Amino acid sequence: MAKKKSKKKNTNKSLVDLGLGPDSDDNVEEKCVEFHEMGLDDRVLKDIAKLGWAKPTLIQEQAIPLVLEGKDVMARARTGSGKTAAFVVPLIQKILLRKLTSDEQYVSTLVLTPSRELCTQVYSNIKDLSSSCSREVKCADVSGQVNITAQRSILMEKPDIVVGTPGRILQHLQSNNLDLKESLEMLVIDEADLVFSFGYESDVKAILEYLPKIYQSILMSATLSEEVVELKKLVLHNPVILKLEDSDLADSGQLSQYHVKCAQDDKFLLIFSLLKLKLIRGKTIIFVNTIDRCIRLKLFLEQFQIRSCVLNSELPVNSRCHIVNQFNSGLYDIIIASDESILLDKKHNVADGESNKQLKKKIKKKSKEYGVSRGIDFQNVSNVVNFDFPLSLKAYIHRVGRTARGDQLGTSLSFVGENELGVFNEIESTLQSGDNASPLKPYKFRMSEIEGFRYRAQDALRAVTKVAVKEARLKEIKSEILNSKKLKTYFDDNPRDLKLLRHDKALHSAKVHAELSSVPDYLVPKALKGNTSFTRKRVNPDANSTQIESKAVKIKRKKEENPLKSFKFKRSSQT
Ligand code: AMP
Repeated sequence: MAKKKSKKKNTNKSLVDLGLGPDSDDNVEEKCVEFHEMGLDDRVLKDIAKLGWAKPTLIQEQAIPLVLEGKDVMARARTGSGKTAAFVVPLIQKILLRKLTSDEQYVSTLVLTPSRELCTQVYSNIKDLSSSCSREVKCADVSGQVNITAQRSILMEKPDIVVGTPGRILQHLQSNNLDLKESLEMLVIDEADLVFSFGYESDVKAILEYLPKIYQSILMSATLSEEVVELKKLVLHNPVILKLEDSDLADSGQLSQYHVKCAQDDKFLLIFSLLKLKLIRGKTIIFVNTIDRCIRLKLFLEQFQIRSCVLNSELPVNSRCHIVNQFNSGLYDIIIASDESILLDKKHNVADGESNKQLKKKIKKKSKEYGVSRGIDFQNVSNVVNFDFPLSLKAYIHRVGRTARGDQLGTSLSFVGENELGVFNEIESTLQSGDNASPLKPYKFRMSEIEGFRYRAQDALRAVTKVAVKEARLKEIKSEILNSKKLKTYFDDNPRDLKLLRHDKALHSAKVHAELSSVPDYLVPKALKGNTSFTRKRVNPDANSTQIESKAVKIKRKKEENPLKSFKFKRSSQT
């Protein structure tokens, strides 16, 4: 292994901090092996550089050299830790090495993941990391919806890497579209714990029958459940086991977690003020506990011409994927997501007439969806806001883990209503290790500073009636189904038009008061006065958000000092 050298952790990233910035030290001394010390091909290094990755994450630093040495590896790594590249980089490197001495084309690598979305994600990682050597490294994702005959011709070309769900791969093996008996050198099972919860256990076992006796295996899993340990016995031989992080969340140097205790009704006032005052900046996911709240918050923010799109399990899968892709490509700044409590709260009551059987089915379906979203990579998320406090530790980790991914910094802010104090205290004490201070720091924000916004918030909230929410919910589903199904064929033929399809359009089922959208100077807290961006001109709500700010204005705004730095508080009067 390359010699370790000491270097400083790079914390000089686009810090979008909600309050006082992380309390952690900026100059953490740590040891790290650089990518260029791993003996990687120049083309791979070039592609890594293109992605802007300055150094490997912990899992990459540990796993890449081991896989290159030919070891079987089992790694427990949280999502967001950079685990995909931890196996993709050495896979590509190994293929390139082999191709130096042999031109023979065969399927040497099989990657199994539990869902189509995850297959697509792994496939695009492979494409990104092999863009400079795409002629040498061929890859196919066979997870798509098309029937298996249509995929036969792709497999006939014997791509070096085949990515698919266990179900689909087994079908191909059984139909002789894929023959791995002689050729397979490497097997990867990603998100292994989900492979089981998705019911692919027997498929994986059946696939093993089609594999040669000797091959290298890698198993990645967020948890080391009994089933994963069982699978380990089946596919790994003398593996190195990497249990890298004790915590499921990034450390405090990377992830700043804040909370603010407030009255339930003040949550709307708070979110509106923080967004309007630009104390929340950058890409943000706002989590609520129910689909109705999702829509209610969207309609509320619409009143102030703050655009957002909603993401919940009611929307068709195609729409959901499209929303996440567009969010990742920077089209939207705000997603309001509901991870409905039933997903994670097994104590869900059956008072509303559901039978146990129905409930079990619902929980299974929902937890499957929850599992899918766990692996999905929301990129460059600066902030996670828990508008409603999550109902369990698992949900808290799932939500907050959407930010501070890879080597990026992130911030979470949880609003804690009076009725949520119990679960907040429980989660806080679980996250607090030993005598250490709680990682959930109080967000030092005085509610009195935003008192002037209260009437506007109340006015806006009044307009968002139950009927408006119901109508909007129906409208949203209808339009997404239309987007998703009817237009699918059209968009298959016209992919450029798909880019124009937006999901953050105003629903307008509540009356919008245009005058509420601007922030007059008298409402801006003293500490933030002088920052002209709060009183910017009103804009057309249906205009593409990229048109709202001209490039020059955007650059100028970015250069402006972060208002938070000048936002001072008197110690005595925190809320
Ligand atoms: P994963 O855990 O594989 O889903 O990766 C989470 C995110 O981290 C993805 O958006 C990757 O693009 C990003 N990422 C992976 N490796 C690195 C790295 N070495 N430096 C910075 N970001 C990375």
